[in-house]
Amino acid sequence: MQKVLRDTFLEVNLDNIEYNIKKIKEMIGKDVAIAAVLKANAYGQGAVDIAPTVIESGADIIAVAALTEALELRRIYKDYNILIMGYTSNSNLEYVVENNIIQTIFSYEQAEILNKLGSKYNKKPKVHIKYDTGFNRLGFKDCSKSIDEIIKISKLKNIEIEGMFSHFALKDQQTNKEQYDKFLKVLNKLENEGINIKYKHICDSIAGVDYPQYRLDMIRPGAIIYGLKSYKNNNFKLKQSMTFKTRISYIKKIQIGEGVSYDYLWEAKRDSVVATLPFGYADGYPRNMRDKGKVTINGKQAPIIGVICMDQCMVDITDIPEAKVGDEVIIYSDGNNNTMSVQQISELAETNKNEIVSRITRRTPRVYIKDGKVVKIRDYLVNN
Ligand SMILES: *Cc1c(COP(=O)(O)O)cnc(C)c1O
Repeated sequence: MQKVLRDTFLEVNLDNIEYNIKKIKEMIGKDVAIAAVLKANAYGQGAVDIAPTVIESGADIIAVAALTEALELRRIYKDYNILIMGYTSNSNLEYVVENNIIQTIFSYEQAEILNKLGSKYNKKPKVHIKYDTGFNRLGFKDCSKSIDEIIKISKLKNIEIEGMFSHFALKDQQTNKEQYDKFLKVLNKLENEGINIKYKHICDSIAGVDYPQYRLDMIRPGAIIYGLKSYKNNNFKLKQSMTFKTRISYIKKIQIGEGVSYDYLWEAKRDSVVATLPFGYADGYPRNMRDKGKVTINGKQAPIIGVICMDQCMVDITDIPEAKVGDEVIIYSDGNNNTMSVQQISELAETNKNEIVSRITRRTPRVYIKDGKVVKIRDYLVNN
């Protein structure tokens, strides 16, 4: 196998992804399907390289946000069910049909275009209808005109309505219930018109775990596949799949009063030992972690000091005298073994966990672990 050519890399544990999907399946039972959300390069972890694990562990559909994400997967996996949850412009719908991708729609106009394309390609494109129950992002507005349009769509001969979905704002239990009730009402109306839809779905990760009564035919988990926990149910335990790592590039001693990094915003209050690490904000680590972030070296925490540069940052290792150049550094992991967790980083950076992991850039190689061994290295720059 090739070598990892960069000291900073993201380790992705495929066993943990498999474990999480199996736990999700166990939780929802065999009557509820899973659309595994692999958008944003599978929350930074490499959609192409985790897709087989996700499918083999029992996901029914792979869901992405954008056409190009769907095409990236389709180029390699000819048989997977791939759903685009976002909008695809009219002029690009031909790619959807050509590549047998399932498209989300929320207008009769788009249904008609897909219907024509279906006839042209002698195919029956599948669609999921997006219905807006209050989020006000995408979807048919909740009104009788929309229902008439959906009924009209159902009469088109060359497309199949495979699914219909909505999305929770997750404001509170009351508004969740209002959204769900709106959705159920329209589903009932459609059913009364003889329109039977295979996958009706509204739950993301949090709703899928915490609100079993809303699971319908399918849930759309993203975060929980990767073991990122924002739900409340403490009995549901998952394993985080990602660990962000690097190695020490350089170690130097500095004297009390010396500054470190741009503008000398950190100054040594004692004679100190400083290590330089080869990761920065261009790898997706938040720049506002200055003087807040910590990394873990040999099980001990070292604080990030001074301005985080684009490609490098410095940590104070005065209290880790055994550290040497080349030593492994955990930038973040699951919080065990004295590591910073993705949760902690997201709080300190004042964002959410999904943003922390989805912002990891192409420059960071992904290293895939299965059965405790490295099974694949993906470097988007040198061996894509
Ligand atoms: C991103 C997304 C999801 C998955 O969200 P998680 O919170 O990561 O589970 C589900 N549904 C839609 C429509 C999404 O955009």
